[in-house]
Amino acid sequence: MKKIFFILLVTGVLSLLLPSLIAQTKPVKIYLSVDMEGIWGVVHGNQVSADSPEYAAGRRWMVEDVNAVINGLLEAGVQEIVVNDSHGSMRNIPAHELNPKVTLISGSPKPLSMMEGIDESFSGVIFVGYHARAGSYASILDHTISGAAVYAIKINGQEMPELGINAAIAGYYRVPVIMLTGDAETCRQAKSILGEKLVTVTVKEGVGRYAARMLPRELVLKKLIEGARDAVKKISEFKPFLPSPPYDFELQLHNSNQAELGALIPLVKRIEPRTLKFQTKDYLEGFKLLRVLIALAAAS
Ligand SMILES: [Zn+2]
Repeated sequence: MKKIFFILLVTGVLSLLLPSLIAQTKPVKIYLSVDMEGIWGVVHGNQVSADSPEYAAGRRWMVEDVNAVINGLLEAGVQEIVVNDSHGSMRNIPAHELNPKVTLISGSPKPLSMMEGIDESFSGVIFVGYHARAGSYASILDHTISGAAVYAIKINGQEMPELGINAAIAGYYRVPVIMLTGDAETCRQAKSILGEKLVTVTVKEGVGRYAARMLPRELVLKKLIEGARDAVKKISEFKPFLPSPPYDFELQLHNSNQAELGALIPLVKRIEPRTLKFQTKDYLEGFKLLRVLIALAAAS
């Protein structure tokens, strides 16, 4: 009788411990979405636009920031890293200058845009070089997806920067965002949406939309390595971000003509001269429709 009790006890303890043991041995795979406005050194559109002579410097700073984050991830034992170039043409990271151990997704357009390549196989997401939403104080090149078309985007009534819109795509696949890098205001917005546990690395402090105080380069590179290492160490503490369905998407445009074509699409309501609204049950469907509406607005 005692023996049976002992066997039951052992199997009970094992069944409790086994899932966490399996989770710990699961290979850690990290996804990086890399924008450019929040990269160290960047303060002006010329530094992030291919037609300017200043762009070469912006690209160099971008790949240096990304490689520092990758070094931290590799030090923490991450087995697989996928980097998605997520700015403008999405051909900014010089492929030969990126750490040769990682996979690079380059070019545009891509169905999931800044989140192309994400799926449930990843353990965490890191946003590198991200920027604040349109209409932010002292934040470098603040905008939301399209500076020319978008005044604001609201999801379920909450105004969202790109980091929130993209974090919900990761959340759709049950993957948490574990770290973000950018200017001070972007880091503040990230924590207010994704929670105080998020690891943020401030690389510069905005003075205005086109001016910033850079933290010393040596210190920033060190903080990027340490931040990535720390985020992986406490990866089990992060929760995926996903607002609850149904999803109310509201797109406020700069001018009334930018809402005219989008309003022709079934499901889409023009609730104000320059504001479009729609509801979906599936977040990805909503995100894709949002992209179409922004593309139509930008082309108007
Ligand atoms: Zn960008």
